[in-house]
Amino acid sequence: MVEVKILNGSRSIGGNCVRIEDKDRVLIFDQGIRFDLMTKYYSSFIMPQSLTELRDIGIIPKPEWYEDVVSVYITHMHLDHLGVLSNIPKELTVYLPSISIYSYLEEKWSMSPTWTSLIPRKYYVEIEELNPLEADKNNVIAVPVSHSAYPSFALLYFGTDENILYTGDFRTESFLDKDEFFKLNKAQDLMSYLENNRDIKVDTLIIEGTNFGTTRLPISPSEAMSIAERLTSTSKSIIVTTHSLDLEYILAFLKIAAKYGLNCYIATTQITKLLETVPELPISPAIIEEHVTYPSHYFEKVSIDQVEPKALIFVSYRGVVDFLKDISSIQPNLSDFAAIISEPEPQVEEAYEYGVIANWFLKMGIQSYRIRVSGHYYPYQLRKILENIRPTRILPIHTLYPERLKSYLG
Ligand SMILES: [Zn+2]
Ligand SMILES: [Zn+2]
Repeated sequence: MVEVKILNGSRSIGGNCVRIEDKDRVLIFDQGIRFDLMTKYYSSFIMPQSLTELRDIGIIPKPEWYEDVVSVYITHMHLDHLGVLSNIPKELTVYLPSISIYSYLEEKWSMSPTWTSLIPRKYYVEIEELNPLEADKNNVIAVPVSHSAYPSFALLYFGTDENILYTGDFRTESFLDKDEFFKLNKAQDLMSYLENNRDIKVDTLIIEGTNFGTTRLPISPSEAMSIAERLTSTSKSIIVTTHSLDLEYILAFLKIAAKYGLNCYIATTQITKLLETVPELPISPAIIEEHVTYPSHYFEKVSIDQVEPKALIFVSYRGVVDFLKDISSIQPNLSDFAAIISEPEPQVEEAYEYGVIANWFLKMGIQSYRIRVSGHYYPYQLRKILENIRPTRILPIHTLYPERLKSYLG
């Protein structure tokens, strides 16, 4: 009776789109952008012109995929999952991980001169927020997971004759300990939830497999932070570049700053707004007014020439080059600075150019280190995950090697 269709993402990293049909209830889980196709057809001087063009190439879902759909669920706000909301062709409800975070991103996108101005929803689309661990009117439960975008959820659907678990993007080790994770997400994480609720039967598991086929060393969050601590304690000042939704990573650095008594600054509006959603921070950062232009009522404001030594400065990938140009005009010698470039996702997920950023650091005389803590679990962790979930069948998604992943079920 329940039918699951993986419309996109069965053999690509990102662009997930899952359609679940259960009698007259039709749901979509994620409706992301296929950045692998986006980078194939567009470049900095060949830009998308319209939704129709993006649909034709297969970068965003086709209108017929939304036929009879009553609700769309978004697991997290990376664009390979959130997708282009203006592409939704009919009245329906979109469940988002956080309305407050979505709202400030929407404001940013709507003012963009590029294709990202297409992301915001049309007026007829209603939005609602996912409530952790509460079954909604469609029998869907959102369970928090650790990932490089906050907040992130897995989705559990209790169907007529089948239960479906869709993991979204997730890792099994977080930058936060269990209590910190619970406090931030107001619920336990997916693996603990399933351990504590052994009666939940998962028939179909739709599981991501980003790291299948990678040769990257699986560095855990705690291993990465011990390296970060070494770099931080031996440099006079550190610039940390980060994705502006990577809250766990930012919180881990704030803890280091508190431990070593560093002066913390934020040089990006989106990071400031993200931190404003957290009730209790390990240390309160100041914001650099030349780069955070709106009036924050939460944090102290300073000018860029008031940045003190022993600084830990957070800046997004998008803003870092402008920030470097600014600070180098005030402090011509930046050799006291080191930089940590976090590289959490394969570039195809959101198309950042980490190498370009590293080149700018080098040009400005700043030693940078690229560190990659994946937002995704690693293949060696899959057996343990499956022992916990005990699914009857697996449908791989968000991977280039679905067969490898499937072979784990034996
Ligand atoms: Zn993804
Ligand atoms: Zn993601």
